[in-house]
Amino acid sequence: MSGAPVVLVTGGSRGIGAAVSRLAARQGWRVAVNYASNRAAADAVVASITEAGGEALAIEGDVGNAADIVSMFAAVDRHFGRLDGLVNNAGIVDYPQRVDEMAAERIERMLRINVTGSILCAAEAVRRMSSRHNGRGGAIVNISSMAAVLGSPAQYVDYAASKAAIDTFTVGLAREVAAEDVRVNAVRPGIIETDIHASGGLPDRPREMAPSIPMQRTGTPEEVADAILYLLSPSASYITGAILNVSGGR
Ligand code: NAP
Repeated sequence: MSGAPVVLVTGGSRGIGAAVSRLAARQGWRVAVNYASNRAAADAVVASITEAGGEALAIEGDVGNAADIVSMFAAVDRHFGRLDGLVNNAGIVDYPQRVDEMAAERIERMLRINVTGSILCAAEAVRRMSSRHNGRGGAIVNISSMAAVLGSPAQYVDYAASKAAIDTFTVGLAREVAAEDVRVNAVRPGIIETDIHASGGLPDRPREMAPSIPMQRTGTPEEVADAILYLLSPSASYITGAILNVSGGR
């Protein structure tokens, strides 16, 4: 078995997660590519990595389901035998609604996937990486959003609140495991060109928002992946509890 480090990317099959998976492989990581339902997209990411000489494995699992999370990490253990990095990237938005229009089911799904899922995945990672658990150390990068700061009024305040929870979780977990060789950081992407906008019923959102961004353009998944891979890498060895805006100044 190769001794190269292993990173699990939740939602690694499309958008920002796919860019992270590909860049991680180019930088020498072996990659566990999690996906929820689109097997073909995950297989395409794995194929592009293996064709370039890297190693990757597609793992199905809904981070909104605790049993799926346990199975996903067990699959990483079986296949790779180690875990050095976690990118808590899987996340959803929903259709634009005011808070006074939202049903409990919508809010519960949002928080289950974006918040509970990320916390449970981090817990599994800490059990494997922390020196307290005889691990060899590691790094976690959580994916927040500028929405955590801006609040997303009249669009998806529930989503913004879920990402604010990720910010606080990042700071708290970072301090909790700082002396155990585990670093925990987050990035806050701005408006990035992925399918997530269409999944929230706003496919033109990136084009429409571009003029309001200080840099006058949206970001690419690759630009976010660069920041994530930096925080995962030994170059960030003294950085923990940091939240990096990747938003063109937004
Ligand atoms: P995306 O293009 O919609 O891709 C989402 C990815 O997550 C897909 O691989 C999808 O898998 C997976 N996924 C969705 N629900 C999942 C679940 N319950 N369990 C496991 N995997 C799941 O999204 P994106 O734009 O790349 O966003 C990635 C992260 O960045 C999210 O946390 C998002 O909130 C954050 N973000 C994005 C932007 C932006 O402008 N794009 C801005 C700020 C923050 P399937 O292919 O199987 O569906």
